[in-house]
Amino acid sequence: MTEKAELASLDVAAVLDRAAAGGRITPEEALVLYRDAPLHALGAAADAVRRRKYAGIEHIATYIIERNINYTNVCVTACKFCAFYAAPKDTKKGWTRDLDDILRRCAETVELGGTQIMFQGGHHPDYGVEYYESHFKAIKDAFPQLVIHSLGASEVEHMARISKVSVEEAITRIHEAGLDSFAGAGAELLPARPRKAIAPLKESGERWLEIMETAHKLGVESTSTMLMGTGETNAERIEHLRMIRDVQDRTGGFRAFIPYTYQPENNHLKGRTQATLFEYLRMIAIARLFLDNVQHIQGSWLTTGKEVGQLSLHYGADDLGSIMLEENVVSSAGAKHRSNRLEIIDLIRKAGRTPAQRATTYEHLVVHDDPANDPVDDRVVSHISSTAIEGGTAHPELKLIASN
Ligand code: SF4
Repeated sequence: MTEKAELASLDVAAVLDRAAAGGRITPEEALVLYRDAPLHALGAAADAVRRRKYAGIEHIATYIIERNINYTNVCVTACKFCAFYAAPKDTKKGWTRDLDDILRRCAETVELGGTQIMFQGGHHPDYGVEYYESHFKAIKDAFPQLVIHSLGASEVEHMARISKVSVEEAITRIHEAGLDSFAGAGAELLPARPRKAIAPLKESGERWLEIMETAHKLGVESTSTMLMGTGETNAERIEHLRMIRDVQDRTGGFRAFIPYTYQPENNHLKGRTQATLFEYLRMIAIARLFLDNVQHIQGSWLTTGKEVGQLSLHYGADDLGSIMLEENVVSSAGAKHRSNRLEIIDLIRKAGRTPAQRATTYEHLVVHDDPANDPVDDRVVSHISSTAIEGGTAHPELKLIASN
């Protein structure tokens, strides 16, 4: 080993020890760990931090049952990585979903034990604050037990512009109408260079954070996300984390951080590579070490696969995300992994953890500590709604599952 390499490895070990012991690390140190720390050592340090953060319940890993409800794919923002949207003029591909259809999907979610809906769609040129107010109110009137964990700063920016109101007013009004928390959608990559390259018409990363900070101050918490693998550098990934940590120091409003990998099909970013699964696991681990002020780190099996999801639980993740009764956005871009509740329970158990179904705010609703008491059916299945992609309103697969 050269002297330079020896020094670098000594630095890595020292920084890793400090991070594992709970010391705050700088963005520069995080970059060194992310790039150079041995994979298993990085994972072990992150797991040590997770165990300490969850002392007493460190054996538990959580999941949630939710449904993504896509209200329209019509969008004026035309992100290059997106396989879901249709331009307003594209009447062949574009569709909108009416309120009756949305409420029926909510009813199915409740019937299958889902607790949360993610209302997710394009930036429709006609949908201002009034659209979201009326829909959230109708959903809450019919299903007060459903948590509306939906949208993100980009939708707020868009609806405020359409309705010609401030983002403060937009957030306050949709919160009063029933929105419980923001899903952190639209973060993509926050640093300017990679964001402009993949989403040139979206608000800047600084603006995205400013709107989230406003929401937190108005009492609306959120999660935070990162889209990995569209050509960003390692330094830009760490910069994304730094931008989130700085806001979190001020607000404490980000409940979770959720990195997920770019899916390369059916979009305009041809030739870009996906992040490797090792890079993804390293991100889970470095997020646990660097984001010392964010409580939950979520593994995303939908885009990386179930085995990687299991591994993420040993690299700092405490949660395996959701069994989505319906998902169309990343599925349109090629995410093919599907699962059901019994399988998720089994995956978590085989990863050495006790599974627990959680609420949006992470309270444990059901702890599956005895296999003899596991749910007896597997009706809670994640899949794509083919009709959402084709533009219809019926949902035959879910009806079949629900009526079995
Ligand atoms: S990611 Fe969202 S904002 Fe961007 S084009 Fe797709 S639907 Fe529109």
